[in-house]
Amino acid sequence: MRSRGREIKVYRRSITTQSGTVSLLIREGLDKKFVMIYREESDLVESFKAEEEGELDGYRYRICPCNHENALALRRYFPYTRPSRLAKGSTIGMGDRIGVATPGHIRAAREFRIFPALAQQSIREMGRTGRSPEEVLDDVSWAVFQEGYRDGFAADADHLKTLEDIDRTFKAGFTMYTLDPSDYVDDLAGTYDLKTLREKFDGLPWKELGCDPRSCLNRYVGPRFRLRSSEGEVDITFSEEVLMRSAVKYSKAIAHILKMYNRLVELFDGKRFDLEISVDETASPTTPQEHFFIASELKRLGVRFDGLALRFVGAFEKAVDYRGDLKMFEETFKTHVIIAKSLGPYKLSIHSGSDKFSIYPIIGKWAKGMFHLKTAGTSYLEALRVVARHDPRLFREIIDYSMKCFERDKATYMISTKIESIPDHRMCRDEELEDVFLNRDEGRQLLHVTYGSILTARDSNGRWIFRDKIRKILLENEEEYYQLLQNHFRKHLTALGLKG
Ligand code: ZN
Repeated sequence: MRSRGREIKVYRRSITTQSGTVSLLIREGLDKKFVMIYREESDLVESFKAEEEGELDGYRYRICPCNHENALALRRYFPYTRPSRLAKGSTIGMGDRIGVATPGHIRAAREFRIFPALAQQSIREMGRTGRSPEEVLDDVSWAVFQEGYRDGFAADADHLKTLEDIDRTFKAGFTMYTLDPSDYVDDLAGTYDLKTLREKFDGLPWKELGCDPRSCLNRYVGPRFRLRSSEGEVDITFSEEVLMRSAVKYSKAIAHILKMYNRLVELFDGKRFDLEISVDETASPTTPQEHFFIASELKRLGVRFDGLALRFVGAFEKAVDYRGDLKMFEETFKTHVIIAKSLGPYKLSIHSGSDKFSIYPIIGKWAKGMFHLKTAGTSYLEALRVVARHDPRLFREIIDYSMKCFERDKATYMISTKIESIPDHRMCRDEELEDVFLNRDEGRQLLHVTYGSILTARDSNGRWIFRDKIRKILLENEEEYYQLLQNHFRKHLTALGLKG
């Protein structure tokens, strides 16, 4: 190849031969490019749009940009770069907000032979980072090709709230859908007096629910539901009041899930997809009765779901370890496992799942082979670790900017860090920045919640302030970034009881 005088990095694991054509990924400067070397033209060669072509030593070559059009061709000709359904057993979601982390995720998944959802992004994250569902998936497909990873991955369209969210992510090719009906959950259901409660109960959308107040009461109030699994047994009973509170809290949400589910079934036209239901963002923890009620109602309505994200006891604050009573967590978690096994089995999905080291052994013990752990922000923090090491000045600018956005950005998160408890970076030497801001809770939470502001900040000329600089540092030090990610996820997966 005409590489003389050009500095090119070849991704060796990407090299593959198909239809007499050698294909591989390279990086020139900061741009990754798809290269084909061949003697004869073929459908494969013709399917990619090249920006440069030529001949060398009797071989022809084409160099193609890693854009959306070529990503579509990549997924057509290299099926392993296409997302598929989530595997059975325990799985992990590895979200990436910058589009550079996936090779590190793949290396960790490979080491532990755990099936990953590599493209995992919520509509909220896409809004905050200014990325489209297509971009998220394309970045992952190129990374899968880069690593020559052939063991499969899912693409999780996370926290979808509307039919429009479904249409957008379906069009991009996502295989897993996490439905978030939280706009329809009545978080005040536990506080109504009995008269109000009864009115609300009678006023539920019974037609959509294919049911009426009387038969709903008859179904749940009275019988004792004895659930058994190898973990133990649980008895679920409902008083009329408890049933009404569960229904008032969740039935509108269940009706909304049904609507979204029907849209998916229609779009997939007989093909299967992965479905997760997330009710993890409620004010109070999901009780065993509520879990039982939600899962039973979904089953009654014919919604085939593969995973359920509950709100567990204790605090799942972003970027830091679990905060709460471990004994109580274990007891309630075990109960949820028994319910999930008896009514499904379906996976218990743990959202805000990164960095919760103190509960991983409990999750690994009771939900062995049936948990799905979702992580995202933690890979952004590992990216900032690379920045702190290689460009402390830029890292300080990121801190300053984050401090200005902190109060606004933290509003949608449950975090306990107060702005006055965040250290002053001017008191730190360059070598201390990483430890103070990326190993301690306050700094981690500051940097976690402001990712959207940082990744979309523009100067008065409309140029990115941080985004390109962060990407550049990550690409220039990509092996280091991948290694940091692999190490970080190794800690997670080991604590969950998986073997590398
Ligand atoms: Zn969630």
